[in-house]
Amino acid sequence: MEAAPAPRIAPEQIPPDPTKVLRRLSGAGFDAYLVGGCVRDLLLDLHPKDFDIATNARPRQIKRLFRNSRIIGRRFRLVHVQFGDHILEVSTFRAPPQPDEADPMIRQDNVFGTEEQDAFRRDFTINALFYDLERGRVIDHVGGLDDLAARRMRMIGDPDLRLREDPVRILRAAKFAGRLGFELTPELRDAARVHARDLGKAATPRVLEEIYRLLSGRGGAQAFRILEDLGAFSVILPELSPPPESFYASVERLSEMSGGGRTGVPQSLMIAVLLAPLVLPRLIDTPAHDYEAVATDVMRPIILRMTVARRDATIARHCLAAQMRLLEPPATRPLRRLAFNDLFEEVLALRRILGPAVHVDPDPLPEWEALLGQREEGGHGGRRRRRRRRRRRGGGGPPAPPA
Ligand code: ATP
Ligand code: MG
Repeated sequence: MEAAPAPRIAPEQIPPDPTKVLRRLSGAGFDAYLVGGCVRDLLLDLHPKDFDIATNARPRQIKRLFRNSRIIGRRFRLVHVQFGDHILEVSTFRAPPQPDEADPMIRQDNVFGTEEQDAFRRDFTINALFYDLERGRVIDHVGGLDDLAARRMRMIGDPDLRLREDPVRILRAAKFAGRLGFELTPELRDAARVHARDLGKAATPRVLEEIYRLLSGRGGAQAFRILEDLGAFSVILPELSPPPESFYASVERLSEMSGGGRTGVPQSLMIAVLLAPLVLPRLIDTPAHDYEAVATDVMRPIILRMTVARRDATIARHCLAAQMRLLEPPATRPLRRLAFNDLFEEVLALRRILGPAVHVDPDPLPEWEALLGQREEGGHGGRRRRRRRRRRRGGGGPPAPPA
């Protein structure tokens, strides 16, 4: 075991709730540490998203210590301790999964283990640091402090094996590298190139979940560049590989809008941003009454493959189709109706993220934005009638689709 030369996280940096949980666990005679992302982020002077705790106490023992707690999880059982509207996750040290020679993909992962084993079963060295509040020191079993200082993503153990166990780790490597501005070690990069295609075998909901994290979090654009470079993007979304520069730019704006993932971005908006480069070019020469149908054709196979929730896909499709309407000023009643749709705010958010589907001069966006204000002053619902007519306004306007 290696301790940091000096405590680099002051106990005062730990908020009261995790402090309470750590103290109660150690008061009951257990070892308990902060682990994972929060230790990494505190050492990097970043604001941790959540404070996870690992301990040698078993789930039932943990539950007994906290009235406001419950045991959750099928794959791994851990304990959620509720504090007001937020939850602290307390998990028992786990051992690495027992490898199966023929098929190293992890399917079962719930064997309790020692503190060291718990560090080694984690993904990257920078994610495997423990913080011991009692002694005010960082515990580093894996060389994570060196890698943090060198700004390196290093896989714990053999990257080849660890990526065969769980190819989603490729997405996680890109996510952290993008977010923190770190480099992958050459060994990790080589192994990721070899195993990129295994992402096609990974559980689709996990892949989708990581894609949502990439799209809403800080550094998402850089993470997608890394994935493209590794040959992983073309496994997830071959239709969009290699993505145009405009895609990276819109992911960057999406992440700015979300404050680096702090404020929730609707999944529907993320899907719209992801698929915009495929859908919008197809709408440009499409008659207005066919926007939704054409968007559906482009989106359906991808939505099904990626297991996007139907509701998110429907909203994304509406918001994408509506982008074409924003190329014209809201001069006619049928057009203005768009502004009274429940989804208009999301339509405008998407427009701000993407920019116009084609260049328009003058850009009618401010007129549409103004309608948002008017709407608050008690407008009528706009979803009763479908738009039937389209009228072209002003010379030199947008290359509006033919009626
Ligand atoms: P974030 O700030 O995004 O929450 P995090 O490091 O806390 O980053 P989580 O996804 O919340 O990441 O996971 C918590 C910890 O669990 C990680 O720090 C890592 O130690 C471990 N972990 C998560 N996913 C995996 C995985 N696929 N393989 C191995 N360890 C993992
Ligand atoms: Mg976390």
